[in-house]
Amino acid sequence: MEYPKIKIDLDKIEHNVKVIVNLCKRNNIEIAGVTKVFCANPEITQAYITGGIAYLADSRVENLIKLKDFNIPKIMLRLPMISEVEKVVEFSDISLNSSVETIKALSEKAIEKGKIHKIILMVDLGDLREGFYDEEELYNTVEEILKLRGIKLIGIGTNLTCYGGVIPDETNLGRLIKVGKIIEKKYNIKLEIISGGNSSNLYLLLKDKNIEGINNLRLGESLVLGRETSYGGKIDDTYDDAFQLITEIIEIKEKPSIPTGEVGMDAFGKVPTFIDKGIRKRIICAIGKQDIELDAIMPIDKGISILGASSDHLILDGTDSERNYKVGDKVSFKLTYAGILRAMTSEYVKKDII
Ligand SMILES: *Cc1c(COP(=O)(O)O)cnc(C)c1O
Repeated sequence: MEYPKIKIDLDKIEHNVKVIVNLCKRNNIEIAGVTKVFCANPEITQAYITGGIAYLADSRVENLIKLKDFNIPKIMLRLPMISEVEKVVEFSDISLNSSVETIKALSEKAIEKGKIHKIILMVDLGDLREGFYDEEELYNTVEEILKLRGIKLIGIGTNLTCYGGVIPDETNLGRLIKVGKIIEKKYNIKLEIISGGNSSNLYLLLKDKNIEGINNLRLGESLVLGRETSYGGKIDDTYDDAFQLITEIIEIKEKPSIPTGEVGMDAFGKVPTFIDKGIRKRIICAIGKQDIELDAIMPIDKGISILGASSDHLILDGTDSERNYKVGDKVSFKLTYAGILRAMTSEYVKKDII
């Protein structure tokens, strides 16, 4: 095997998915399993499906294309670009939307292809990323798109704790549910899906504060890392190490903790600062900022700390470790969500699925 690599444990992922599917099922919620963090890798996607998710969801058309052979409804998560509507209609069944122009373009393409494309309208409840902020504009849009023959409005949804960090609660989700009821009554239609958001919603279920009326969540981080994302709380009986980064040591030497000579800028144009801890055992691993951010990796060996990195070199302090590392040995790390995303996207990080 070549290094660096990201080791992916499918059994752990499937286990996480099962635990969270059960939690959601008890609250009458179906899960759209979000595949973007692992670039829609088919084997990991299969673990999602075996675990019991109801939909697949991704923010990029390139990833939806990779999912085309899975016979399960697919959701395009990012508001489609008008320039990509043809692919969106071809490779997803449902898309999240907030602009009439785009929905008209989707409808035209769907008619051309003899399909009906399903739409979930996004409502901005205050987090200030995508969605209708103004309710009147939302109702006017519903009226306008109900006339379109290529699309079907099947639900509304929201996204919280993304840009503004707003936490889902009774007040904001209550508003989503109310808006849904107004649309159903005003236009005499049934909305199948009320999609309450992402992994940040799970803290409500964990605290038994589920909000009646939400019947769908789009989950990524909670499935891969076993945590809700409102407060970062761990979900009982899940794994946080299904993805591990494994790097190889290319140098180990005793060196001072402060550079010798006049200090200018580092490789990224910043002036570094140092604390004098005397002579330390410094370990260099063959991976760098091209593949990972330093705050996205956590050494599994508690005796190792991270000193810094340049594009291709990761520098660790191994003085306090109980292990007697040698050049050629491997050092493993847990990853944050951003760390998994970056490592999965880097072509230099090999993927080892077990
Ligand atoms: C990425 C994404 C999600 C999943 O978010 P997690 O916090 O990983 O659960 C849900 N909805 C949309 C629109 C997204 O883009």
